[in-house]
Amino acid sequence: MSTLNLEQLTDDFPLVKQLIALEEVCWFNPNSTTLAEGLPYVGLDQTDIRDASDRLKRFAPYLMKAFPETAVSNGIIESDIVAIPEMQRALAAHYGTEITGRLLLKKDSHLPISGSIKARGGIYEVLTHAEQLAMDAGLLTSSDDYSKLFSDDFRDFFKQYSIAVGSTGNLGMSIGIMSAKLGFSVSVHMSADAREWKKRKLRSHGVTVVEYAQDYGIAVAQGRKEAEQDPNCFFIDDENSKTLFLGYSVAGERVKQQFNELGITVDAEHPLFVYLPCGVGGGPGGVAFGLKMAFGDHVHCIFAEPTHSPCMLLGVHTGLHDGIAVQDIGIDNVTAADGLAVGRASGFVGRAMERLLDGYYTISDERMYRHLGELNQYENIQLEPSALAGMPGPVWVTNAQAYRERFQLDAQTMNNATHLIWATGGGMVPDEEMAAYLAQSQD
Ligand SMILES: *Cc1c(COP(=O)(O)O)cnc(C)c1O
Repeated sequence: MSTLNLEQLTDDFPLVKQLIALEEVCWFNPNSTTLAEGLPYVGLDQTDIRDASDRLKRFAPYLMKAFPETAVSNGIIESDIVAIPEMQRALAAHYGTEITGRLLLKKDSHLPISGSIKARGGIYEVLTHAEQLAMDAGLLTSSDDYSKLFSDDFRDFFKQYSIAVGSTGNLGMSIGIMSAKLGFSVSVHMSADAREWKKRKLRSHGVTVVEYAQDYGIAVAQGRKEAEQDPNCFFIDDENSKTLFLGYSVAGERVKQQFNELGITVDAEHPLFVYLPCGVGGGPGGVAFGLKMAFGDHVHCIFAEPTHSPCMLLGVHTGLHDGIAVQDIGIDNVTAADGLAVGRASGFVGRAMERLLDGYYTISDERMYRHLGELNQYENIQLEPSALAGMPGPVWVTNAQAYRERFQLDAQTMNNATHLIWATGGGMVPDEEMAAYLAQSQD
């Protein structure tokens, strides 16, 4: 690859100058298009989502047994949607912008088993791999009751195989806890920013944690290298995995079902805006894909990234995708937002989804902390900093005149809008860590 000419790049894309200055910026992609036009570029379709959804249903009886906390939802790993009207008022006051329509929170922060959005993709990929191994060995068919996997025989079977993954923390938690429960030997390669408590928790589940002094990209590369040396080791590739992506995408039909139960309509007169914190892109990309397939063109998906790690905005805006990292433009990729400290976006997700995503914005760590404190104060909901990245989304949309005109989102339509903030993590943060987050939010 040729070396980057930064002067040329900032001439071509003046927004990059603002990224370098660590300003909070928002960019609505002028090339976003309809589902019909954008879908062929994804390379996946409704059949793939159905397949993932069915697989999760097959595993539900197993999950109920292995993780009794999932019994209330019959072994389906899903989170609540709640209204946050007080937070809506606080945001409007803080930004000096009226936010019309309703503001809802999707609490993936409180998903069972691992307390983050990674309980969708990460767990799904481990289950997919386990099913394949068991079927290939003639031990399982798709019509079996999968609760039989919760046995010493199956644990002994899976023990012959290992799983490896690189992570900033939450993916490691999902994959580590799920793999260890099935019986796999599992190693999680953790980047320097990963929290101590996450490493401790994983070790308590019998997971091997390998620590790196470098960032996520290095942890992934090392994990991949180690896995290549062992033919019985399966490497979960957060940067490129379609399986992970499909695990996330099942969220779309689940949200649709929840909206039906809540009596929430989504159509041209009642648009839905969803604000998704983005790290490497698989989680928000997969969820956005599922939402598009469930709601069509009336759902508008917007990604949020830290000002210190705007890898997806940078990749999509410049068209360079995974050919550029934030470090290439002098940004340090250092943020308190676990899960979002990613310097180089997934090439697969950026290319597959760019036509189906309306916009991207950045948010400072200070602002995430501020909203963390406000959500605790006004709604008594506790999240980790990254999960607050979606909060300013409705403000950016409200103030984006050109964008709203393009999609005929006039004031009347915005009165009927639903804004869904995707809260991606925090449910398992220990009390003393949460106390430290809350103290920081007061600074
Ligand atoms: C991983 C993660 C994200 C983003 O997911 P990506 O697939 O990395 O884009 C957002 N929030 C939290 C808390 C996460 O752990």
